[in-house]
Amino acid sequence: MRSLVVAGDTDVGQVRDSNEDAYLVGDSVFAVADGMGGHLAGEVASSLALEPITNLDGHIFRDASGAVAALREAVVAANATVAEMAESDPSYRGMGTTLTAAMVEGRRLHVAHVGDSRAYLLRDGQFSQLTDDHTFVQHLVDEGQITREEAEQHPQRSIITRAIGVSQDIEVDSMSLDLQPGDQLLLCSDGLTGVVPDDLIAEGLLAGSDPESTVRQLIDLANDAGGPDNVTVILLRYEADDLPVERAPERADAPATVSITTRQEAGNAKDWAGRLGSYGELRKSGGPRPAQPEPRRIGPAVAKITGLLLGLAVLGGLLVVGAQFLLSQQHFVGVDGDEVVIYQGIDAQVGPFELARVVERTRVPLDDIQPWYRPRLEDGIPAADLRDARSIVSAAPRRDAVDEDTNVADGDDTEAEGGTP
Ligand code: MN
Repeated sequence: MRSLVVAGDTDVGQVRDSNEDAYLVGDSVFAVADGMGGHLAGEVASSLALEPITNLDGHIFRDASGAVAALREAVVAANATVAEMAESDPSYRGMGTTLTAAMVEGRRLHVAHVGDSRAYLLRDGQFSQLTDDHTFVQHLVDEGQITREEAEQHPQRSIITRAIGVSQDIEVDSMSLDLQPGDQLLLCSDGLTGVVPDDLIAEGLLAGSDPESTVRQLIDLANDAGGPDNVTVILLRYEADDLPVERAPERADAPATVSITTRQEAGNAKDWAGRLGSYGELRKSGGPRPAQPEPRRIGPAVAKITGLLLGLAVLGGLLVVGAQFLLSQQHFVGVDGDEVVIYQGIDAQVGPFELARVVERTRVPLDDIQPWYRPRLEDGIPAADLRDARSIVSAAPRRDAVDEDTNVADGDDTEAEGGTP
């Protein structure tokens, strides 16, 4: 006999005025979706995406491969549903959502995933991230351009390269593994992982109180850290009847011995499985990233060019899949020539690709801005949306402003050398 203890909750956080996250706690299926695309659209996207997953609840499958296939199909169906809605209704254009879904059948666990909501497993004191983030910064980490630590602070860390509902085509990651008594599975949106470090999350799980209070405690941690985003947490604890629920050994002294394994650090899937211990099965749909192609056979120059082409191909794929979504989602305030402008896209240039375009010219000359503030504009200041970008522009300290407490009156030209007859 096995038993599964589950709790889930969501919270708007401290800053947002609406909650675009959605979650599902069923009997056998569990999911977190983090919607985006602006007020209402994000909420619609995330709750629509959960419907096909809900339909699987309580379903018994003949074999593990049938179960994981059904879960993957449900994610594909979620994508089609959200994409259709986004195309048919102009007010939902550009909406999308993450989707991280789990199914438990007996002791089998299946996970299917798109976006940057995460699944973690805590087993024998080891806390491991099961899912890859489909984000721009993760791409940079994979490419070796930035470290994982830099990614956590990166201004573009919330940009997603894969999401449900953005295009008719969707690539789904999935994996299956056997649960062991005592395992804890955590599903959460980036409202938690964006502000609460992995070791604190692991400590919360190790403390071993009932899942409901642990979920509450994790949400409190996110809110204590500023709660900049909606927070959603689902915690599953897999227990066996022949084991007492209260297992004292790895308690009080545990936090010091927690080891955190991330999917990214672990290299390829085999090594990663090895570190975690013995799974009956572990599969990732994408598999490890392609290794260097036959390095011994080709000369260094050819290898270099091949590497470059390969890089461009990967980048091209990323751009094709993500560009439309990226461009529609992200704003920042920057400089074009000597004018302050608002960009949409990513504040970066990769190879020959400029990843942003000007969407609004402000007619504010860079010369009018306080010199100490100009480098910030030249670096680009990320904004939540166009409105936010405009308020960043109007709040940018002007050179002729004596105080910064009042708005500059509109149409009041205070030119020293006026006197035109
Ligand atoms: Mn979020």
